[in-house]
This record gives sequence, C-alpha cells and structure tokens, in this order.
Amino acid sequence: MHITTAENDIESILYTEEQIKKRVAELGKELSEIYKDSTPVMACVLKGASVFYTDLVRAFNGHMLFDFISVSSYGQAAKSSGKVSFKKDFDNDLKGKDVIIVEDIVDTGLTLKYLKELLAERDVKSVKTVALLNKYECHPRDLDTDYFGFKIENQFVVGYGLDYAGYYRNLPYIGVLKKSVYAD
Ligand code: 5GP
Repeated sequence: MHITTAENDIESILYTEEQIKKRVAELGKELSEIYKDSTPVMACVLKGASVFYTDLVRAFNGHMLFDFISVSSYGQAAKSSGKVSFKKDFDNDLKGKDVIIVEDIVDTGLTLKYLKELLAERDVKSVKTVALLNKYECHPRDLDTDYFGFKIENQFVVGYGLDYAGYYRNLPYIGVLKKSVYAD
C-alpha cells in the first residue's frame, strides 16, 4: 500500500486502485469501439483529469491525438456561473475532428456544457465528454456527461488527480476527506 501523510486525512475510500483500474479499462474499451473508424483528439482538462487521462489513453486501442487544456471558472462563490475561459487552449487544429473532453468529475455540469458550446463554434465533427466521476444528483439530465466511470453522491472527494487546496492528487484511490481537514 502506498503510504503518505495525506492518507491520514482520508475518512473513507470510495473506490480503490483496483476498482478504478478495472472501470477505466472498460471505458477505454468502450471508447475504442465507438471511435474505431476515427482518430479523436482526446483533451485532458488540467489538472484534475491528468491521472485519469493517462490511464484512459493507455486503455484506448487505436489512433488518437493528445491535447491538454486548462480553464478558469468565473462566478459567485455560492453559485457557479459555469462560464469558463481558457488558461491553456487546444494545441490541435480541431476543424473536422472528433473531440473527446476528459474531465475528472461532473458536479453542476456547467464546465462541460460551456466547453461543448465553445467547441461547437470551432467547426468540429463531434464533441463528447467523459468524466471519471459523476455527481449524478447535482445537475439536470441535459447537462450529463456522455460517458463516465462511477456515479457518486454529493460529497467532496479527492485522490486520483482530484485535489483539496492543491493536495491529495497523488493518492491512488478516490477518498472522502475527514471533516477536520475542512474545519482547520
Ligand atoms: P462543474 O462545472 O461540473 O460544477 O465543476 C466541475 C469541477 O468542479 C471539477 O472539474 C472539479 O475541479 C470541481 N469539483 C466538483 N466536485 C468536486 C469534488 O468532489 N472534489 C474535487 N476535488 N473537485 C470537485
């Protein structure tokens, strides 16, 4: 087991390394089948999706192109406007391409919605989204991600790329933080 001091802050493990590995392999297989006649641009939304992305692309069997994007969200603290702007835009020319946006987690769904709308203006062939985690109860069905790994409850999770204040991204599993971490 990978022991770090970060582990002491975890209340419970939601998905183990093994469970994630199995599910990501399934997702990779599913996407390989769907895009078997295409060379999609798979875009990792930094930084949260980075760990998921590197596993997912290795489970993808076929040609694909790497891309990394980074976005800033703007909005009130209590209510996200879902408006995003690029901190780092796509490197690939997307014209006529199938694009797959790879996110860590869908909460309100507004980030993915905004990215999809933005890409629709770039003359792409198609845009789909895949997220490792889906807070299913937190967004209307029309803002759902196209593909996802696991449905989760409305709780704050870290690990496998997801952070709290920049920490915990390196945990190999998805866990729930102890309340005492927030209270400090
Ligand atoms: P949305 O636009 O779907 O509300 O926001 C998605 C983003 O919010 C994710 O990419 C992630 O950065 C952040 N987020 C939402 N829920 C969680 C969570 O439980 N844990 C962490 N670490 N980030 C989250």
